[in-house]
Amino acid sequence: MDGKTHFIVGGIAGIGVASYVGAELPTAISFTLLGACVGLVPDLDVKGTLSNKISLNKNWIITLLGLLGLLIIVNSFIVYKDVDRWLGFGLGLALMIIPPFLIKQKYMLLLTGATSLILGIYQQNTWLMLLGIYICIAALLPHRSLTHSFIGLFYFSLIGYFLEKDFQINGILLVCTVSYASHLLLDMKIFRKNRRGVKLFQPFSKLEI
Ligand SMILES: [Zn+2]
Repeated sequence: MDGKTHFIVGGIAGIGVASYVGAELPTAISFTLLGACVGLVPDLDVKGTLSNKISLNKNWIITLLGLLGLLIIVNSFIVYKDVDRWLGFGLGLALMIIPPFLIKQKYMLLLTGATSLILGIYQQNTWLMLLGIYICIAALLPHRSLTHSFIGLFYFSLIGYFLEKDFQINGILLVCTVSYASHLLLDMKIFRKNRRGVKLFQPFSKLEI
């Protein structure tokens, strides 16, 4: 199913949960937005618009590294002497010249996941860590593999569990679970629009539903 449908149905799932738990308006609005976004999440394994949207922009990273290179060059000329000065110069120059050739946008989703994972570890924030791992795996896997399965659903619910614990708002876990499940449902073969179904039981079974 296309992204727009996933977004809308995920949002509707968020509204449903908000009504179910009797959330107040600001929370209900957040649930709708959260649900809409979660409805898109499993398709992070598609190399395209969605993954590009959440990915860090490669030009920003390249510019940052270039500036860091310039800083190292200037700093090593002011502070260091002899060999150290030239080592600093070489390192700085490398940071200014090499990244544009190495950093491609297609690696940026992986880098975004890694950044989230490192931030999560640094802040001892479990959901951020788990989300980072999820994004890294989605970046590496082919389309409609583990993200489109019960394992993916369980894993994302776990993220929802820690998110709810962190924000202490009743219903976040349910939004994550229901909106994620809505994506899997919409990708099933019962909808004629889908040429392929989902292998919900992978990696244990190849049964496509
Ligand atoms: Zn999908």
